Order: sequence, then C-alpha cells, then structure tokens
Amino acid sequence: ISYNSARFNKSAAKLSQCPEDIGAEVAFAGRSNAGKSSAINTLTNNKKLARTSKTPGRTQLINFFDLNIEHTRIVDLPGYGFAKVPLEMKLHWQKHLDNYLQKRECLRGVVLVMDIRHPMKEFDQMMTQWCKSTGMPLHVLLTKADKLKKGPAQNTLLKLKKELTDELGDNVSLQIFSALKRQGIDQLSMRIDSWLLE
Ligand code: GDP
Repeated sequence: ISYNSARFNKSAAKLSQCPEDIGAEVAFAGRSNAGKSSAINTLTNNKKLARTSKTPGRTQLINFFDLNIEHTRIVDLPGYGFAKVPLEMKLHWQKHLDNYLQKRECLRGVVLVMDIRHPMKEFDQMMTQWCKSTGMPLHVLLTKADKLKKGPAQNTLLKLKKELTDELGDNVSLQIFSALKRQGIDQLSMRIDSWLLE
C-alpha cells in the first residue's frame, strides 16, 4: 500500500456518519499528545493530514483517510486524557469511541501510540484490555524514541513486549518509532499492510 497517497475522506461525530462499513481499516488510538497525529503524518509523508494537537483536545472526531486500494482506510481516533475538559464531555467521547470499536466490522487492527517515556497509562491499559477481550490485533507504537538514548528505549521495548505478550500472546506486536527522526516507518507500514491486505 502506498501510504503517501492517503487522503482525507470524512470526519464522524457518531457511528452513522462513518464511511460505509465495508472493506478494511486500521485505527490509530492514543492519549492526547502521545504523538499520534505526528505518527500518521510521518507514515503518510503528509505534514497536514492529521492535525497535530498543539491545542490538546482539538481533534474530537473520528477521521477517515482513504488509501490507494479501494475500501481500505486508516482511521484517526480521538485523543484522550487531557485535563481541562468537563467529565460529561469525556464520557461522550468515550461512548463514541466505544461504539466505533464495538460495532465496526471492517476494523482489522489497532495501532496504539504511546510516548515511549510514559507508556501504559490508564487509557492504554483500557485499549489493551479491550483488544484482549475482543481478540483485536494490537500494534504498540512507542514514539518519541529520539527523546531517549538507545539503551533505555530498547529496555522499555523489551519490558513492555514481555508484559503485553503475557497478556495478549501472538495478537500483539510492538516497535520503536520517531516522527522527528523518521524512524520505524517501514516496520509500521509492513504491519498495517499485513492487516489490510490479509
Ligand atoms: P497527538 O495529540 O497524539 O496527535 O500528538 P501530536 O502528534 O500532536 O504530538 C504532540 C507533541 O509531541 C507535538 O509537540 C509534537 O511535535 C511532539 N512529537 C510528536 N512526535 C514526536 C517525535 O517522534 N519526537 C519528538 N521529539 N517529538 C514528537
């Protein structure tokens, strides 16, 4: 798949606004500010595709991007975990996300983006448990790796790999990534290829 060709299809505030549930898609999830938008922009080599959250909490819609094979998409899920938002609003987004995850037939896998310096926060644990309970394949992207030296980055990877493999077995994979250094793009695109082209 040529990720460079990804282009915006639509945003959805609820399930009924999503593109028709046919084909195959891969969803990117992550806490707000984890580096999800930057990861999508790096994968697609398009600085403007996903909006980076200079203003945390700005992108509260599910965004769909079409790829160059018919009915294949990558999906940018809303970011979670910012402080200055009323609980009621958080619950609303939560429900929106839950709805999508539970009902979307064409979902093939989840890329869970974490800041390598702050992995497995509450939201990440929730997503991991959800993948475990549904059998959804999970790929963990440990991003901002340029912020750590090689040794500590590798230690985090190995420690998490063991933890998550104990939980999820073959259904989980992990990698190191840096949008800044453009590190890990091939590994990420191969993972998504394997899900979408299966
Ligand atoms: P999102 O809220 O998860 O979409 O996060 P963003 O992609 O908007 O990134 C949040 C902040 O982290 C921004 O200031 C980015 O410039 C920064 N950032 C994202 N990826 C990287 C990375 O790989 N390396 C470094 N050093 N900074 C990053």
